[in-house]
Amino acid sequence: MSALLTELHSELPAEVITTDPDVMGGFAHDQAPWAEHGLPAAVVRPLTAQQVQATVLACLRTGTAIVPRGAGSGLSGGANALTGCVVISLDRMDRILEVDPLERLAVVQPGVVNDALRAAAAAHGLWYPPDPASSAWSTLGGNVATNAGGVCCVKYGVTGDYVLGLQVATGTGALVRLGRRTAKGVAGLDLTALMVGSEGTLGVITEVTVRLRPARAAERTVAGFFPSLVAAGRAVAAVAAAGITPSALELVDRRCLDAVDAWKNTGISSEAEALLLGRTDASGLEGEHEASTIVLCFEQAGATFAVQTSDPDEADALFAARRLALPALQRLGPVLTEDVCVPKAQLATMLALVGRAAERHDTTIATIAHAGDGNLHPLLLLRPGDPGATQRAQAAFDEIMAGALELGGTVTGEHGIGLLKRHGLRMELDPAVLEMQRAVKVALDPRGLLNPGKVLDG
Ligand SMILES: Cc1cc2nc3c(=O)[nH]c(=O)nc-3n(C[C@H](O)[C@H](O)[C@H](O)COP(=O)(O)OP(=O)(O)OC[C@H]3O[C@@H](n4cnc5c(N)ncnc54)[C@H](O)[C@@H]3O)c2cc1C
Repeated sequence: MSALLTELHSELPAEVITTDPDVMGGFAHDQAPWAEHGLPAAVVRPLTAQQVQATVLACLRTGTAIVPRGAGSGLSGGANALTGCVVISLDRMDRILEVDPLERLAVVQPGVVNDALRAAAAAHGLWYPPDPASSAWSTLGGNVATNAGGVCCVKYGVTGDYVLGLQVATGTGALVRLGRRTAKGVAGLDLTALMVGSEGTLGVITEVTVRLRPARAAERTVAGFFPSLVAAGRAVAAVAAAGITPSALELVDRRCLDAVDAWKNTGISSEAEALLLGRTDASGLEGEHEASTIVLCFEQAGATFAVQTSDPDEADALFAARRLALPALQRLGPVLTEDVCVPKAQLATMLALVGRAAERHDTTIATIAHAGDGNLHPLLLLRPGDPGATQRAQAAFDEIMAGALELGGTVTGEHGIGLLKRHGLRMELDPAVLEMQRAVKVALDPRGLLNPGKVLDG
């Protein structure tokens, strides 16, 4: 038995350690096609924070790389295994430890699935807003580590806006608490915020304390059909210019709707090139005013048809189609997911730029977007059996990142850098800022064993 396995077995119950290559294969990569991955030496699926800490200490003693993992729904290769590493999968730490209605907070283990937290909060008349389209599978630990966004973030913010405190196993093997559970708190540097979005490179999150909001009013939905993506982009800018903050503003193009329809037989597809879905959760007259203003903005931007849906089932079906777009396309072949984010006023220009990149590099690109945030997900589809397809898609991927930066945007709005966007990070950040980030990494992970090669390196 290797020194690593001897260490792990001396510290942990056998049932949390897996070395079967077939089983480990299921923990070797996330949802990013062609991001490289290796086979771990072991997968540890701890049940307690102390077992996470014991695993980190065993890795420190043997100089073994550690890859933290939630549900593996990431789209940038962040959870991909390195050959010979230990994958710490937090999926079995899935207990909701506390929902406190008075303080409006919840304390959860990192493997709790986003939808499970939302359901537990709802039972107390409360609401946990961050709702990535992967909310049915992705974990709170993964959401925090990627600072996940989602559909209602256009009005309510991203995961980091809700994280009050964390428990973390650090790169030195300590188990520490960061942050607070009070409404305010400014004791020292905000290390909680530093952990948010750190993609497993600064520590392994073993507990999360999040802020909750009161449950909100029922939403009204507006659907608009557009003759082009660019016209839909103009409508998004018009909604912002009208002073409306919708509770959702999502874009789905025709390719995505057709793929979902072919899979789920939804009957939702149209002659239009793009569907915009707007929502408002303002109540009473204000809600009515916001919904009719959104309809007007859609029409003035060139919608061929815009309507408030009065049927909640129909509205939910439209949003379900938005959520299913990526898996529906993944059924047809590998999909490389872009994630650039631009200022809202630049959305139409960015959509046009994506169209040009598709043409120039002969790559089929479908698009979904958290349009109200200016956060686009061009989905680059690889034709099976086309040997040059990967190279051409990579060129389009790079061109889209460069275009977003030129428009004052960022290379990643919510999926993170992982493996796929390391060069994008170098394109976006000043070398002096990259050095500051490296210095933080060295301070918190002096042996460089936490998710090495991800985000900053390579
Ligand atoms: C269909 C689909 C829709 C999606 N929609 C959205 C969306 O709307 N918004 C959005 O933001 N993302 C979206 N994603 C991407 C993905 O779901 C999110 O990035 C999610 O937050 C990842 O959670 P996970 O539990 O799957 O983490 P993983 O994929 O397992 O890991 C992601 C990263 O976090 C690190 N990590 C995981 N757990 C821990 C932990 N406990 N401690 C330290 N580091 C950890 C990993 O090392 C890795 O770097 C979508 C993905 C899919 C497949």
